[in-house]
Amino acid sequence: MDLSRFPRRRYTEGHTPLEFLPHFTKALRATCGPDGGPNVWIKRDDMLGLTPGGNKTRKLEFLVADALAQGADTLITCGAPQSNHCRATLSASIKEGLKCRFVIEERVPNSYKEDASGNNFLFRLLGVEAITVVPAGTNMLEAMQKVAADLAKAGRKGYIVPGGGSNAIGGLGYVACAQELQQQFFEQGVRIDKVVVGSGSSGTHGGLLAGFMGNHINIPIVGIGVSRDPADQNPLVHKEAQAVADLLGLGMTIPPEAVVSHGDWWRPKYSVPNQAMVEAVQMLARTEAVLLDPVYTGKIMAGLIGLARKGFFRKDENVLFLHTGGAPSLHAYEAEVLGLTELPA
Ligand SMILES: *Cc1c(COP(=O)(O)O)cnc(C)c1O
Repeated sequence: MDLSRFPRRRYTEGHTPLEFLPHFTKALRATCGPDGGPNVWIKRDDMLGLTPGGNKTRKLEFLVADALAQGADTLITCGAPQSNHCRATLSASIKEGLKCRFVIEERVPNSYKEDASGNNFLFRLLGVEAITVVPAGTNMLEAMQKVAADLAKAGRKGYIVPGGGSNAIGGLGYVACAQELQQQFFEQGVRIDKVVVGSGSSGTHGGLLAGFMGNHINIPIVGIGVSRDPADQNPLVHKEAQAVADLLGLGMTIPPEAVVSHGDWWRPKYSVPNQAMVEAVQMLARTEAVLLDPVYTGKIMAGLIGLARKGFFRKDENVLFLHTGGAPSLHAYEAEVLGLTELPA
């Protein structure tokens, strides 16, 4: 599949590492009962470029190239109060000499605090031009279009990056990741049986699925919902994967049954900490010195751990965890991840 037809900026030098996690695998197996657990591998997309990287970096390589091609001078995007995507978009705008504005959705009422730590601190340090805070349920596209209209009145040109960078263009970033993985599997002689990936705005899950199918990589992708159960999440992922496949001109219909996700681990609510997340964050930190985050990767890894304990993976199966980043928001939840507060299971 030829991705070179699409304009792309580069924010990462080379490939992110693909590594086995020996100590975590051993610790997980010790809790999986007599049947044992899988071998766990990690794809370090938390080590992508931008300050610091994560899955949004791959999407932004294609989205920002499109913005530049259209002559934009300002990136406009949206997200939750601790949005990694907003921070990564701001970081890309700085690298490109563009301005950046956010619309922040308070999905949990009064949760946006300008002087909060984590990504909010980075918004200020990196110098976002303007932030509009709106209540939960606001039409985010319309809110961003309003920002674009204000800029136009001042003779400027905004480019709207969709929430999470998830549209067909952004999804190309995870097609590129599929191709990178295919090459690494071959060069490192690794045979992976399943890939576990977070599933939120869907660009990662959907883009990777389109990339796997387009490259004939027959490895099942197991999504872990970060804000929705499968009945709501799977159609979003399917739509994204199909849009990416269409943009690539694959002439392929993505079968709905290729989209698999698991819910529950995101509860009680998107971004609200739970006990299983704390266990996952502590376990990865203390067995492998890998930092997960409380909003996404902690819950996604809690899903992998929970599935392993239920016997979902065959013993000795090689399972790849896609680390999508997010570590800055650890600092907005320090007491929670240290286990110093009461949390729901
Ligand atoms: C945005 C994000 C996700 C979810 O990825 P989507 O492409 O939105 O589904 C997972 N992990 C982290 C750290 C994120 O910031």
